[in-house]
Amino acid sequence: MAPTPSRDVVVAGGGIIGLAVAWQAAAAGLAVTVVDPAAGRGSSWAAAGMLAPVAEAHFGEEALASLNVAAVRAWPEFAARLESASGEPVHFRADGTLLVASDPSDRAATDRVLAFHQDIGLAAERLGSRACRAAEPLLAPGISGGVDLPDDHQVDNRAAVGALLAAGRTAGVAFVADEVARVEVEDGRVRGVTLADGSRIAAPRVVVAAGSRSGDLGGLPDGTRPPVRPVRGATVRLRAGDGVPRLRRTVRALVHGRTCYLVPRDDGGLVLGATMEERGNDLAVPLGGLADLLDDARRVVPALDEYAVVETASGLRPGSPDNGPLVGTTTTDGLLMATGHFRNGILLAPLTSSEVVGLLIHGGRPDGPDTGPFAAFRPDRFAPKASVARGAPWAPGVATGP
Ligand SMILES: Cc1cc2nc3c(=O)[nH]c(=O)nc-3n(C[C@H](O)[C@H](O)[C@H](O)COP(=O)(O)OP(=O)(O)OC[C@H]3O[C@@H](n4cnc5c(N)ncnc54)[C@H](O)[C@@H]3O)c2cc1C
Repeated sequence: MAPTPSRDVVVAGGGIIGLAVAWQAAAAGLAVTVVDPAAGRGSSWAAAGMLAPVAEAHFGEEALASLNVAAVRAWPEFAARLESASGEPVHFRADGTLLVASDPSDRAATDRVLAFHQDIGLAAERLGSRACRAAEPLLAPGISGGVDLPDDHQVDNRAAVGALLAAGRTAGVAFVADEVARVEVEDGRVRGVTLADGSRIAAPRVVVAAGSRSGDLGGLPDGTRPPVRPVRGATVRLRAGDGVPRLRRTVRALVHGRTCYLVPRDDGGLVLGATMEERGNDLAVPLGGLADLLDDARRVVPALDEYAVVETASGLRPGSPDNGPLVGTTTTDGLLMATGHFRNGILLAPLTSSEVVGLLIHGGRPDGPDTGPFAAFRPDRFAPKASVARGAPWAPGVATGP
């Protein structure tokens, strides 16, 4: 029988979160294995790549908005370092976003959101219809106006995932194309993982980064299983042929109360999104939602009729009870969570990976778990209040969120 290989860290799941953790941990000198049957092809592949702390700031989610603002600020340096380590471009673009309202009632809604954004100190400026069309000539003449969001940017998420795979390999990350069936724990300590094919990898630390499936891993001790659920979304990839006019920047729109976004790529591609449904692990794309999305996008940018349809992609966002991520250590020694990134996993990848790598190297934050950007997003925050000393067990299904 083959001997059990031994590593410093096993990362269960190779989406953008697991890959970013693995690359940075290996670059810091740790021996890292990523286990994933299809690394880079989960939600991170379907996503649009918006880095949108402001457009994604919702009432009641102020702590998440602060985390997201810190994350967008980390992207320029992260993108430069990743490009240099991988030799591959990731197409980070800091050209802002325009949020537009299709009709007067959408305009009233964008005004309410604008007031909220300004109240919590986010950069957002009201624009009239003419100013919107001057900024983005492809917008339909009938739009009611909009909001300039200068701090919401974008990256080509597929290029970023490809670059993370390349940078990880260069840094010495080992990739195993299988599933983690169980996390092995003895005497309150992580010992490694058992894979679906029955083989084992010994490791004193395991990072759970399996996206929407993170709660399904076998062997997670009571009180550490993350309350993560799949929230399906679909994007449509289009392409502008030669001579077909292109958008200058990301446009998000409210169309008769429904939201959509259009994210232009450097190469003439355009990502249109997204639907949002809770249907378990089903990745099928229903025609109705797709038809609404296409109608809404064409209403805002009529020139889309000249674009070619390239692909429809669907993915399962890892949703959590309060829409925030679960990042940090658990009550089991050596078991860390990096999951639950819901609508913002591309945005949060640089910050989550530096936090997790810091915890892997130092065993915890120097000044305690209640510090740093993830202080409000520790994995144990859904514990029933009666039994919480920090890190006390909680059961899935009892968590509540706003
Ligand atoms: C349509 C859509 C649009 C989106 N747009 C944006 C956007 O514009 N900006 C943004 O920031 N976010 C966006 N998101 C959200 C973003 O995609 C996610 O938050 C992010 O991709 C989560 O990354 P992840 O690595 O946790 O999960 P994933 O990318 O889903 O990766 C999880 C990986 O775990 C693997 N896995 C599962 N079970 C196991 C197991 N037992 N063993 C080993 N591996 C396992 C899977 O194969 C998969 O590769 C969007 C999501 C969707 C669906």
